[in-house]
Amino acid sequence: MQLRLPVHLAEAYKSPSQRTRLLTETWAAENLYCPSCDADHLQACKQSTPVVDFFCAHCSSIFQLKSQSKPIGMRILDAAYQTMVEAIRANRVPNLWALQYDPSGWRVQNVLLIPSYAFSLSCIEQRKPLQRTARRAGWVGCNIVISSIPADARIPVVTEGKAANPSEVRRAYRRLVGLTRLDAEARGWTLDVLHAIRRLGKDLFSLQDVYALEEQLAALHPQNRHIRPKIRQQLQRLRDMGLVEFLGGGRYRVR
Ligand SMILES: [Zn+2]
Repeated sequence: MQLRLPVHLAEAYKSPSQRTRLLTETWAAENLYCPSCDADHLQACKQSTPVVDFFCAHCSSIFQLKSQSKPIGMRILDAAYQTMVEAIRANRVPNLWALQYDPSGWRVQNVLLIPSYAFSLSCIEQRKPLQRTARRAGWVGCNIVISSIPADARIPVVTEGKAANPSEVRRAYRRLVGLTRLDAEARGWTLDVLHAIRRLGKDLFSLQDVYALEEQLAALHPQNRHIRPKIRQQLQRLRDMGLVEFLGGGRYRVR
């Protein structure tokens, strides 16, 4: 993977945002690969749509690229809130590449891949409507809250100027791919319980450890009053996906 942006292409552009867009999109088309199959390249969408920038010609996976020069923090500004909610409910969210470049050396510094199946309503935050003075007054955007996504689904592709091996990226992508078979609500539950277990920071944990997070989980799913049965159901699902091992007697191991 070549990490230098093709800066010679940008000379004709005066606007910094146009320049960044051209450079990072050209870079992505030349260097990013499909994490879902063995395709070495992605195709740029000719007709630019609001959220899809690239697709895989082999497996039809779709991708969005978000580029910025400041470090990838805990929130990424995304599309309109309602558009995103509808896309999540309909399983139409693309995989997201979050890219950070160094504007002084025009190099790609960090790339994080968030698989499409990792998006649930729990990681979407509604922003305040734009003020009346704004060009798009009243428009309501959303943030993707990276910290609400389990670490398993934040896949490092480039870290501090060093590219990961594509086989590792693909392995990480496939680990949770079973989530694609679930509808948005079920997937959200599984992701939230996985995230809760990861944050316990223990290899071995008990059902009581997870029950202790009941309130947090209830806050994410206010319409659901049967939190404990839901927790147990997610543990079974995570076991079936090979992420949690049942040791018996309400004890579990993270794999
Ligand atoms: Zn593919």
